Amino acid sequence: MTKDWKTRTKLVHEGSRRSQYGEMAEAIFLTQGFAYPTAESAESRFVQAGEDEFIYARYGNPTTRMFEDRIAALEGCEDAFATASGMAAVNGALTSMLRAGDHVVSSRALFGSCLYILEEVLTRYGVHVSFVDGEDLDQWRAAITPATKAVFFESMSNPTLQLVDIKAVAEIAHANGALVVVDNVFATPIFSRAVEQGADVIVYSTTKHVDGQGRALGGVICGSKDFIRKVAEPYLKHTGAAMSPFTAWIMLNGMATLDLRCRAMADSALKIAQALEQNPAVAKVIYPGLASHPQHALAMAQMGSGGTLVAFEIKGGKEAAFKFCNALDIIKISNNLGDAKTIATHPATTTHQRLPQPQKDALGITGGLIRLSVGLEDAGDLIAELTAALA
Ligand SMILES: *Cc1c(COP(=O)(O)O)cnc(C)c1O
Repeated sequence: MTKDWKTRTKLVHEGSRRSQYGEMAEAIFLTQGFAYPTAESAESRFVQAGEDEFIYARYGNPTTRMFEDRIAALEGCEDAFATASGMAAVNGALTSMLRAGDHVVSSRALFGSCLYILEEVLTRYGVHVSFVDGEDLDQWRAAITPATKAVFFESMSNPTLQLVDIKAVAEIAHANGALVVVDNVFATPIFSRAVEQGADVIVYSTTKHVDGQGRALGGVICGSKDFIRKVAEPYLKHTGAAMSPFTAWIMLNGMATLDLRCRAMADSALKIAQALEQNPAVAKVIYPGLASHPQHALAMAQMGSGGTLVAFEIKGGKEAAFKFCNALDIIKISNNLGDAKTIATHPATTTHQRLPQPQKDALGITGGLIRLSVGLEDAGDLIAELTAALA
C-alpha cells in the first residue's frame, strides 16, 4: 500500500502473498486453522499476531487478507475487513461502533435490508435513528447534532439514482464529531473518491461489481487501521461475519478486471441512456451521466462518471413495463447489478414490492419504472434489443 502504483496495477498485484512455491495465481487457503511451530509461538500469536501470522479463518485467512489489502489500497484506506455478504458489512460497520443511547442520521432512500438494520435492529438496542432526504443538505444540517455518532447513506440510491453529496454531508457530520459511513455500491470502487470527499468508513456489497459475474455473495468494510482493527474486527470476528477463502479468491479474480469492466459498462450505460432519451415510448430517463439529470454536475465532481445503471420510466405503467420485460432476450429479468450480463428489474413489483404506496410515490418508484444494470455485451446489440422491446 506504500507503493506508487496506478489503479490497474494495484488491481492486478496489490496484496499478493505467495507461498514457498511461488504460485502465479492467488492461492486458495482452504483451511480453518494454522499449525504453530511451538507452544511459545502459539502463545505469542494469541497475544499479538504478526503480518503473516494467522490463527483461525473466522479471524483472518491469507486468501481473504490478499483481497482486503487489494481493495483497501484501491479505495485509498489503510485497512479493510471482508465479510460474507454486503449486508454483513453494513451491519458490522454500524453495530460495531454504536451502543444504546447513540444517535444516527440516515438518508431515507435505502436498500431494503439496510433500512431493516436502521429501523428494526439498531432501534431494538436503544440506538436513536433519524431519517432525512439524502439530497437535501438543510435536512442533514437540522438532523445532525453533537449527540450524533454516525451518519449513513447510499452515495447513489437504488433504484432512482439520487446522489448524496459526500463532501457536504461529511463537513456537517465532522463539525459535530460524527463518523461518515457510506454504502458505495452503486458508485463502484472504480468511480469512488469517497475517502477524498470525507467518508470515514466505506462499505461494499462485493456481490455486485467486484465479483462482476454474479457468482458469489461478499462484502467489505474499508476504513482506518484503528477503526477496522479496534472497532470492526472484534465485533466481526466474534460474531462470525468472515468471508470464506473461496469467495475471497473469486473477488480477487474479479478485481483484476474491475476497472476495465466498470468503464466499459459506464460507456454503454451513457449510450443507452442517450438512445432511451430519444425513444417516444419512454417518459423519463434517469442517468447521472446525462446533462438532463438534476445532479449531473455533482455526479461528475463526485464520481467522474454516470455509473453503470440506468433507470427509465415507460409510458403506460406496469402493464407496458411488463410487456417490455417479457420482450427481452439478451437482457435478463433479475435483480442483481454490476454483472457482466445486462439485467432489467421492475422495482415496484420485486425489490421494492413491500414498500407502502406513499413511500413508493415519494421515492418515484412507479409502475412504469425499469432499472437497468448495464453489462458487458455490445452496446449496439443492447440498444437494438431495448428499442425493439419498447416498440
Ligand atoms: C446489494 C446491496 C447490498 C447488500 O449486499 P448483499 O451482498 O446482497 O448482502 C447493500 N447495499 C446496496 C446498495 C446493495 O445494492
